[in-house]
Amino acid sequence: MPTGLRRRNPETVAELRSRIAALEVELAAAGDGAEHVSEASDAERLVRFLPEAVMVQCGGRLVFVNDATLRLLGAASVEDLIGREILDFIPAEERSDVRERTRKWRDARSGAAPLRHKSLGLDGTVVDVETTALAIDWHGQSAMLLVSRDRSERVKTETALQESEERYRGLVELLPDAVYIHNGKAITFINPSGVRMFGAETADQIVGRAPLDFSHPAERGYVVERSSEILKRNVGKESQRRRRLRLDGSEYLADVAALPLKWHGESAVLVVVQDVTEQVRAQEELRRSNAELEQFAYVASHDLQEPLRTVASYCQLLERRYKDKLDQSAMDYIGFAVAGAKRMQLLISDLLQFSRVGTRGKEFTPTDCGEVFSDAVSNLHQAIVESGAQVTCDKLPVVIGDRVQLGQLFQNLMGNAIKFRGERVPVIHVGALVEGSDVVLSVRDNGIGIDPQHRERIFQIFQRLHERDKYPGTGIGLAVCKKIVERHGGRIWVEGAPDEGSTFLFSLPIAP
Ligand code: ADP
Repeated sequence: MPTGLRRRNPETVAELRSRIAALEVELAAAGDGAEHVSEASDAERLVRFLPEAVMVQCGGRLVFVNDATLRLLGAASVEDLIGREILDFIPAEERSDVRERTRKWRDARSGAAPLRHKSLGLDGTVVDVETTALAIDWHGQSAMLLVSRDRSERVKTETALQESEERYRGLVELLPDAVYIHNGKAITFINPSGVRMFGAETADQIVGRAPLDFSHPAERGYVVERSSEILKRNVGKESQRRRRLRLDGSEYLADVAALPLKWHGESAVLVVVQDVTEQVRAQEELRRSNAELEQFAYVASHDLQEPLRTVASYCQLLERRYKDKLDQSAMDYIGFAVAGAKRMQLLISDLLQFSRVGTRGKEFTPTDCGEVFSDAVSNLHQAIVESGAQVTCDKLPVVIGDRVQLGQLFQNLMGNAIKFRGERVPVIHVGALVEGSDVVLSVRDNGIGIDPQHRERIFQIFQRLHERDKYPGTGIGLAVCKKIVERHGGRIWVEGAPDEGSTFLFSLPIAP
């Protein structure tokens, strides 16, 4: 068996060439001058079953083809191809290239570089192929031995790879975060956002520099340790908040995530940096101004109570002492002043209650919502009896929270469900639905419902939808509920429609 004729794909052009040379010798020896090889020599049998298409063209016509050629060109039998011109199987737009290359192949007896082109089968199928050829002697005549390999799978993979690379490149180029790659010693790649974030104008100013140049000196030891762990591939990809330096030495705060990757065959670290300086500053500012506001609301409501009490009590004194000396109008005016002062007292004490959610909250402990529900039911006993309300609940979980505030939350929502019952006997149900590490609790009623357009507004302080004489209240209850839920890291919202009842839902963290 000729050494070059093993049934596997040739790895290199050189290997392919040596196989073609061996074929040339074997085919020339096997032929008897007929139009195509008909006597089955060992070499012919081998050539027939080669996975590559092997063809011999002599005098401009095909004189020999193997089985793989039939498959490649969509032919049913050898007769479909023998006698045809090779150019018949090349799409029109590539014919001049192939003709040109065939000339070169003919002139260079040692074989020329392979040509990548498309082949057009009898059934119209176009396939990507790679062809190499040699000028040979075919029974005394000069001929061309052509070997074509189907590259369509490879082309498909290469195209998919190229497209995915383009997608990732586009993503990295457009990403607002800095993305860079280093090998422990030097930065080897940085994206445009990275160039800007590092305070440079071009990537050249960054590439080649040590990654540590951009870490704060106080954190360099840790960063070195972590980079070497990542290079050894035993660190997760969680992001960390780090102090970093720009090119000019100025500092910024960033969330940094790093991953091991192979870059040009070398172990490397891919780093994604998000500048959070502004975000952290804004959060701190918000926290500070919230604390200030809370403090202000507390002091204002606390200190306003005293003078207000004085106004109210002197008005009442006036009323008592001078009722015989004053006419009815004066008495009415005093009555209005007393009612106004009382209402103001109520609003101020609500404001105080609201501000206390943030300032006077207790520590969070595991709290059984079932017990909180029972407490709320007993505190609302009077209203439940008077309205004939029917109150039920699911099995409620243990959550992590402030027991007193959760009591206030349940009581406000259940109290509202009774208060806004309309003409119906209230039917109230408290439900619980566990969602991961949170539970969504719900207080559902069959009362007057809420117009969807007011779903946000009712959670704002002192916002109400009704006249005081129809439904008493100051509009603080739901604002307090929202503040309590948010203090617990949850969210509160309402569902339902006018006349169809309301369901207030809020999420809380479950005790582990
Ligand atoms: P208040 O009860 O003092 O009016 P809230 O803040 O508790 O204040 O409620 C704000 C408004 O939301 C209420 O005035 C009412 O219009 C509406 N509301 C609250 N709970 C319900 C409910 N269960 N059904 C219908 N409307 C409600």
